[in-house]
Amino acid sequence: MQSNIRLFRIWGIPIGLSFSWFVIFGLVTWSLATGFFPTALPELSGAGYAVLGLVTSLLFFGSVLAHELGHAYVAQRHGIPVRSITLHLLGGLAQIGREPATAGAEFRIAIAGPLVSLVLAGLFAVLSVADQAVPVLGPLTSWLARINLLLVLFNLIPGFPLDGGRVLRAIVWKLTANAHRATRIAAVIGQVVAFSFIGVGVVSLFGGAASNGLWLIFIGWFLQSAASGSYAQARLEQELEGVTAGQVMQRERVEIPAATTVEQLAGPLGAGQEQRLYFVGDEDDIEGMVTAADIARVPRSLWPFTRVEQIMTPIQRLLGIQAQTALLEALQQMEEAQVTQAPVFAEGRVVGLLSRDQVLRFIRSRVGAAA
Ligand SMILES: [Zn+2]
Repeated sequence: MQSNIRLFRIWGIPIGLSFSWFVIFGLVTWSLATGFFPTALPELSGAGYAVLGLVTSLLFFGSVLAHELGHAYVAQRHGIPVRSITLHLLGGLAQIGREPATAGAEFRIAIAGPLVSLVLAGLFAVLSVADQAVPVLGPLTSWLARINLLLVLFNLIPGFPLDGGRVLRAIVWKLTANAHRATRIAAVIGQVVAFSFIGVGVVSLFGGAASNGLWLIFIGWFLQSAASGSYAQARLEQELEGVTAGQVMQRERVEIPAATTVEQLAGPLGAGQEQRLYFVGDEDDIEGMVTAADIARVPRSLWPFTRVEQIMTPIQRLLGIQAQTALLEALQQMEEAQVTQAPVFAEGRVVGLLSRDQVLRFIRSRVGAAA
């Protein structure tokens, strides 16, 4: 779930909106302005309902953001970086940098969001009682109290990857002391919950509640695909447990002296050596890396006069992967840095090269077509 629009940062975390969010924002605002407020406050005008709808809807999505910030705050407190928070069609998502290391951390991160929503529900409930003096604010705050409570209940459904599913996973993890088994159990329960949603949705569809039915089927389908994705991920992690970058990397590498000209390097080969990559320097002192893409940027006529050290990416600017890094972690580092290959280091020296294709081939050979 990517952010299409970046808004601002909170605690260094970029907050963004997905395009799909505008659909749900429009729907909520519209249903408040044409349904809820005209019924609750019959004496107002159309413009009044529109303003109330908009304000209430903004406060609602502010509440969703606060819920995600709850997860993010606790994750950061556990030393886990939070990459982004995105509001989308089905609510919000805080993307955390890695899985929590312990069942306790998983539990606290998962429960933090619903706790924030619960506090907000209480706060709006108190305001709705106190607000009776200002007639407009009463319905607004009581609706926000109810929707935040609904958010708590929905998120606590034990379907992985909803918060409730994560809480369940943390509990199973604690009881079995096995994170992989916990993920599998939580994912299976998540799929059962998902199919129940779809089942109830189909029944209400034929029972005459068409829009409710469709909505339930849609949520069920979303939960189902998320749960089966989590299951595949858990299987992959289990399969690759203990495999390091150093075991999969390519050891053969070509080193060329820094003073080599592009002509000397690429002249005999010609262009189109897409996968070729050279380390510049010698075995004990690698200075940088030159790829076919670097060569392609040099005009042909300058090849005899351009040295590879002029066009290389210096080693300090390359993403370096430590040989003992877990393979999936290395793959994630490469994806974050948006590179397809990276040098592998051991004890401060370059010992090999890891490419994304190589990792994916290795994963496929281990896990089969399912990965
Ligand atoms: Zn949550």
